[in-house]
Amino acid sequence: MNSAVAALRAVLPDRCILANDEETRPYECDGLAAYRQMPMIVLLPENEAQIMAAIAVCRQLNLPIVPRGAGTGLSGGAMPIAGGVVLSTARLNRIVRLDPTARTAVVQPGVRNLAISEAAAPHGLYYAPDPSSQIACTIGGNVAENSGGVHCLKYGLTVHNVLRVRMVTTDGEIVELGSEALDAPGLDLLAVAIGSEGMLGVVTEVTVKLVPKPRVARVVMASFDDIVKAGDAVANVIAAGIIPAGLEMMDRLSTQVAEEFVHAGYDTQAAAVLLCESDGIPEEVEEEIARMSEVLSECGATALAVSRDEAERLRFWSGRKNAFPAVGRISPDYYCMDGTIPRKHLAHVLQRIEAMEQKYGLRCANVFHAGDGNLHPLIMFDANVPGEFHRAEQFGADILELCVEVGGTITGEHGVGIEKINSMCVQFSRAELDAFLAVKRAFDPAGILNPDKAIPTLHRCAEYGRMHVRHGRMPFSNLPRF
Ligand SMILES: Cc1cc2nc3c(=O)[nH]c(=O)nc-3n(C[C@H](O)[C@H](O)[C@H](O)COP(=O)(O)OP(=O)(O)OC[C@H]3O[C@@H](n4cnc5c(N)ncnc54)[C@H](O)[C@@H]3O)c2cc1C
Repeated sequence: MNSAVAALRAVLPDRCILANDEETRPYECDGLAAYRQMPMIVLLPENEAQIMAAIAVCRQLNLPIVPRGAGTGLSGGAMPIAGGVVLSTARLNRIVRLDPTARTAVVQPGVRNLAISEAAAPHGLYYAPDPSSQIACTIGGNVAENSGGVHCLKYGLTVHNVLRVRMVTTDGEIVELGSEALDAPGLDLLAVAIGSEGMLGVVTEVTVKLVPKPRVARVVMASFDDIVKAGDAVANVIAAGIIPAGLEMMDRLSTQVAEEFVHAGYDTQAAAVLLCESDGIPEEVEEEIARMSEVLSECGATALAVSRDEAERLRFWSGRKNAFPAVGRISPDYYCMDGTIPRKHLAHVLQRIEAMEQKYGLRCANVFHAGDGNLHPLIMFDANVPGEFHRAEQFGADILELCVEVGGTITGEHGVGIEKINSMCVQFSRAELDAFLAVKRAFDPAGILNPDKAIPTLHRCAEYGRMHVRHGRMPFSNLPRF
């Protein structure tokens, strides 16, 4: 350790290095606090040249590097590797350039998501992807996770709102992917880098698109006495040709805890509440709200409330935005899952999750991006009760396998990280996983950038060893089952 620290001290100023336990402890986990690992050292470079110098030392000494933004990730992506380096981009937090005419901003990776919209606001513009963590999370983390949010149904995920990414690879190269024009020559490597979970390069600059702030936004809040009807209503709103600015669902447990916490005005007797937002010019919004209300009523909504002004709209959303901390008030711990399913299966999947609550003896609140089919079951447990965390993990893994079963995926926006690495064995064949590893090797031949995250090894899948049969074929049928 001492020689590694000395080598890093030779290329970075002392103020950029944290090496004792007291200083490095805050970096031992990300938002998924159930998994922890102390790093050997934490680096806080202040510019791209320092990042390149630090990477060169790590490559020479074969030290694993974990890039880190704000550490709000929920899949352990920024959790340190034992004996490795955490490379934080927190100090690269400058908005380099904002061009209201081109509607773009060039920002350093440590800029907070919300800070981009705040800087763009005087020009009537904003950055559309809005993770609920937007007050804290960074654009570097958003790029690495391809983050989404309430407004992504209409405006797209990070991948649809980023034009260019500049990053440093572990062989010391600076690569620029994408361009400031609408298209870039060659293969679309920008889309490969977005969502690559810090495994291909350290992002040092991002060009994002800005969009005009809508003149008006209103939200319809619809109550349902049956979760199946609410699930079907989501599919029917989209089938009616409406693309809401946001379409979110909360089940009874989540509306009850959120209501107690922030008094959003929710119908706490409803089995489920849908929040459907429309934005645009006033005439357009009025017409869309009327159409949404009609579809929701036809689907059996028992009550509808339309926000009358901006204060009421924000109040309706406040419960949704505070649902996670609200659940934290009623349970010592909770585990937030993230999977995506085709919208038409929402009702069926919610019923199956309800049955799993019985099976595992744990409560689960559902609050999620229903329009995208992106589930966020919040499994409640008490880490101090022996076995409960393990049951919560099993419960979560079952939900992800259910997502795959109905034709969905094991992640929507939180990434695979360390949390869902076993579930990757269920979703993908060995040949597919090998292709992912080959892409990683092309960018990171030394294999030191966030190793052992997101893509499971053959050995791990064999150990996971579940007897899943997909399309009539058992994966890894040649491997012994442990
Ligand atoms: C309360 C709460 C609500 C949330 N809501 C949402 C939501 O609505 N939608 C959503 O998508 N997510 C949500 N998240 C998850 C999380 O905020 C996002 O994944 C976010 O993008 C992480 O950003 P970060 O800066 O905190 O990254 P970190 O957690 O620090 O890192 C995340 C990943 O990005 C990599 N990384 C970070 N910076 C770089 C870089 N410069 N170069 C290369 N790799 C890098 C890390 O190695 C890691 O793999 C939520 C989290 C919390 C705690």
